[in-house]
Amino acid sequence: MSFSSLSPSAGSNKPKVASETIAYCTKCRMDLNHTIVAMAGDRIVRVHCRTCKTEHAYKSPKGLSTPAPKDTPVEREKKAAKKAESRSEAVPVEAEWTKMMNASRANPAKAYSAKTPFSVGDRIQHSLFGEGVVNKLVYPNKVEVVFQMDVKVLIHGGSGGSN
Ligand SMILES: [Zn+2]
Repeated sequence: MSFSSLSPSAGSNKPKVASETIAYCTKCRMDLNHTIVAMAGDRIVRVHCRTCKTEHAYKSPKGLSTPAPKDTPVEREKKAAKKAESRSEAVPVEAEWTKMMNASRANPAKAYSAKTPFSVGDRIQHSLFGEGVVNKLVYPNKVEVVFQMDVKVLIHGGSGGSN
């Protein structure tokens, strides 16, 4: 028999078979007083619940020593970073939109229709995207319109194809 233990106080709280310990009861689903039934070295293996009188494998009490999983906060940070990214993308569009709306305040807003020809600086009233301003002409029959939330390329003019 070898005593390699450095425990100073003769191990009064050192677990041993037939002594009491707080353990998580799988049946009662809470931390309760248990009697130790079996040990493997310093580790408690089986316990007997004082409350429901059931013998079961030892589970460390849930209220104590539950190390937080390390990947959870990282995962949360990643998600937050992603959110911040997509938000920072949206802001310049809105800033640009505000600038353009102010610049074209004098122009009357035209209701958007694929058949109506638009030119740069025109204000567009779109049924889905709201108010926007034509930023540039893309193709003979398309315009890039800056809306508050997004930039859209829309068909216009209707006559298209005459290049
Ligand atoms: Zn129990």
